[in-house]
Amino acid sequence: MITGGEFYKVMCAMAPLYFAMFVAYGSVKWWKIFTAEQCSGINRFVSVFAVPILSFHFISQNNPYKMDTMFIIADTLSKLMVFVLLSLWAVLFKSGGLDWLITLFSIATLPNTLVMGIPLLQAMYGDYTQNLMVQLVVLQCIIWYTLLLFLFELRAARLLIRTEFPGQAAGSIAKIQVDDDVISLDGMDALRTETETDINGRIRLRIRRSISSVPDSVLSSSLCLTPRASNLSNAEIFSVNTPNRFFNGGGSGTLQFYNGSNEIVFCNGDLGGFGFTRPGCGVSPRRLSGYASSDAYSLQPTPRASNFNELDLNGTGTPVWMKSPVAGRIFRHTSSPKMMWESGQRHVAKDTMNVPEKEISFRDALKMAPPSTAAGGDASMEEGAAGKDTAPVAAIGRQEMPSAAVMVRLILTVVGRKLSRNPNTYSSVLGLIWSLISFRWHIALPSIVALSIKIISDAGLGMAMFSLGLFMALQPKMIACGAKKATMGMLIRFISGPLFMAAASILVGLKGSRLHAAIVQAALPQGIVPFVFAREYGLHPDLLSTLVIFAAVAWEAGKPLVMEEVEVAPPQKHEVRIKILFTSLCHTDVYFWEAKGQTPLFPRIFGHEAGGIVESVGEGVTDLQPGDHVLPIFTGECGDCRHCHSEESNMCDLLRINTERGGMIHDGESRFSINGKPIYHFLGTSTFSEYTVVHSGQVAKINPEAPLDKVCIVSCGLSTGLGATLNVAKPKKGQSVAIFGLGAVGLAAAEGARIAGAGRVIGVDLNPKRFEEAKKFGVTEFVNPREHDKPVQQVIAEMTDGGVDRSVECTGSIQAMIQAFECVHDGWGVAVLVGVPSKDDAFKTHPMNLLNERTLKGTFFGNYKPKTDIPGVVEKYMNKELELEKFITHTVPFSEINKAFDYMLKGESIRCIITMGA
Ligand code: NAD
Ligand code: ZN
Repeated sequence: MITGGEFYKVMCAMAPLYFAMFVAYGSVKWWKIFTAEQCSGINRFVSVFAVPILSFHFISQNNPYKMDTMFIIADTLSKLMVFVLLSLWAVLFKSGGLDWLITLFSIATLPNTLVMGIPLLQAMYGDYTQNLMVQLVVLQCIIWYTLLLFLFELRAARLLIRTEFPGQAAGSIAKIQVDDDVISLDGMDALRTETETDINGRIRLRIRRSISSVPDSVLSSSLCLTPRASNLSNAEIFSVNTPNRFFNGGGSGTLQFYNGSNEIVFCNGDLGGFGFTRPGCGVSPRRLSGYASSDAYSLQPTPRASNFNELDLNGTGTPVWMKSPVAGRIFRHTSSPKMMWESGQRHVAKDTMNVPEKEISFRDALKMAPPSTAAGGDASMEEGAAGKDTAPVAAIGRQEMPSAAVMVRLILTVVGRKLSRNPNTYSSVLGLIWSLISFRWHIALPSIVALSIKIISDAGLGMAMFSLGLFMALQPKMIACGAKKATMGMLIRFISGPLFMAAASILVGLKGSRLHAAIVQAALPQGIVPFVFAREYGLHPDLLSTLVIFAAVAWEAGKPLVMEEVEVAPPQKHEVRIKILFTSLCHTDVYFWEAKGQTPLFPRIFGHEAGGIVESVGEGVTDLQPGDHVLPIFTGECGDCRHCHSEESNMCDLLRINTERGGMIHDGESRFSINGKPIYHFLGTSTFSEYTVVHSGQVAKINPEAPLDKVCIVSCGLSTGLGATLNVAKPKKGQSVAIFGLGAVGLAAAEGARIAGAGRVIGVDLNPKRFEEAKKFGVTEFVNPREHDKPVQQVIAEMTDGGVDRSVECTGSIQAMIQAFECVHDGWGVAVLVGVPSKDDAFKTHPMNLLNERTLKGTFFGNYKPKTDIPGVVEKYMNKELELEKFITHTVPFSEINKAFDYMLKGESIRCIITMGA
């Protein structure tokens, strides 16, 4: 057992390291000393200088002529044992797969020897263990990390080939050439392939960086895989990141088999007009291609451990929260990212009961393999361990791979390139060479050099821990991968790792403190390098990061970790994470909260009218950067599709409003979770959270001078109403306009009428309190339907000699929609619907009303294109052409968000701003 004195020695070694980590953690988390950019500068210093010099320092001090053979054999044996077992598992039981082989191997065998092991063991067992540890570090650097890189590149190459050559085509690849500037297949760079087929049908494949979007040869096939026939296999191929497992559908035979369930789930057909999803259901092929063409190839977003998989494991297969639906309002008041999820009590209980069928199909859709997997016929790129050796697509046949020789050559090439760019490789080799020289001829480095190295390597040790602390502080949540996987990882890391080491050491015959040292080092927290690789290749980085961190934290404080907060995962490809500063409540939130909208999805984070600051951006985001002031918007603009190219439409194929989607387009998954359980997104914005992740196409970058507590209302209600009048109803000067519903949207429509120079503006509302307020917005006359026995249409027709010229409906009531249409003048009248109807509403009017030359229109977001037009609306406010202050009647701190709901339900507020920081 460890005595008090020994304990003190251990503390002396460890405490300074954790002190460095703590300082880093605090300076980011609490004292806000470093920006994200500065942190990455520090990290870069650590990886370019500190760690390589640290490696050199230790390796060069290790006497290579006096290596402890037994110790090394034991270590190697234990790693080989794990590797062989995992490989057997991967080969024999298809469920294993390369992905988990890599992850589990990293977890079980690669502890943090350099940064933690050396000082710790030195303190526990004396100086000589430092030598032992250094020997392990040398081997780790030279052999094991290289093996790991090899496996990662192998995996990346297989993915690439599977995606590009589904089925048997890959078998005929005879040669693979990699352009010089391709350093890795890890997906950080966009790659594409070119192929040439010779007369014998053998294929020569060239892998290039895709810099230009124009293919240089006819045969080239861009890796931005739009669903089109491959010239090689006649199969339909898809990008690995073909978006949206939530509602894949459309066009291709491969997808057909879950189209059926989609129809049930997503096409509520009863309401074409409400159809946020098209009647044709789901995504049209064009929509897919619209996305894919702007989407460079990336293996980064490997379908990673889906949080949703965890649902499969609780017996009945019913998601936990489905069994006990979140009832009423639950407000989580926690320090870090806060959120609330809500549901109208009655409705959820009821609706959940009513839609079992939908739930089931919804879950099935989630479990579907992504198209590329289906097409590939091999499931290991999906969550291997989940045992999905599915891929039933017979049309294509088994996935073949090029011959082993071809693959090995390919991978050796890229691994070689990768190693050649890593400063650590050079410093390790230099360290090894120097140690061979210095211990052979007993020469020491000149003091001046030795001291220079020492100073950086000491700093390096501290800096490495410092950077670990920074990393921790930048995580939205400590346990990134969810409690279940974390526990599994911990068991492997801290129990099976040491067990294998113990078995191997005993086999080899290690005894005494060498045996102890071997076991203790095997039980250290996860090494950082495997985590860095995992992050680079996008393979379970959440799990590895957790082990790096969790272990460190548990060691430091020994306290259970708080898991109450909502984890907001980092932005993935084409996504940004936004720190929300102000949000406000719109009636649409209330509808869905009351579950009057479509299929209820709970728990869910509502909110879509907000202003904030970009905190971080995901891969491929070029038009936004941290620090930008932005408005997240419930409908988006991809910039690429026919709608985005059309001057008339703002209904982007990819990013148009979709109330059914609970995850992100990129992978269909949620970026929010509590204890690993996903929390659904709402409208892709979910702004009732201190941090949220939004597709970059749904983010409008605005003038940083604009006060976010005012312009946040531009992100929905204001623009919707304003645009409905200015862009859709388009009243001519002096014309009369009726506005139904005098909430924020209706009053913004009135503001539009004022700006357009309309003559009479008639406000219609059931709530007489609204009229006083509306005068400020230029509403000149009022009609309260409750005060008349005649239909409102008739009242208005009488007031206006046959009807108003324009009407804008902003209530969400189906009666008001019909009235708004029927009250416009025949011959030229135009009615515009803006309110969001209830699920089962149907618009009923006599066709004669249309034949008499009235026009009925509808609009989302006032026909504004969110990214193109909204900055201009903000400028209108800055130039004092628009008044926003008069819309804002209340302000509440985030902790009192429920008050905002009450104000809206009681009709007291126009807009209530919710201040996040408060
Ligand atoms: P709000 O609750 O503040 O205002 C609605 C007003 O309509 C209230 O004053 C209410 O008294 C009045 N009203 C309700 N039923 C009526 C009826 N039958 N006749 C006359 N008046 C009636 O809501 P808001 O935030 O201003 O939103 C208004 C509507 O616009 C909602 O349906 C909302 O979902 C919808 N909306 C649509 C879009 C879009 O892009 N199309 C965007 C945002 C909001
Ligand atoms: Zn678009």
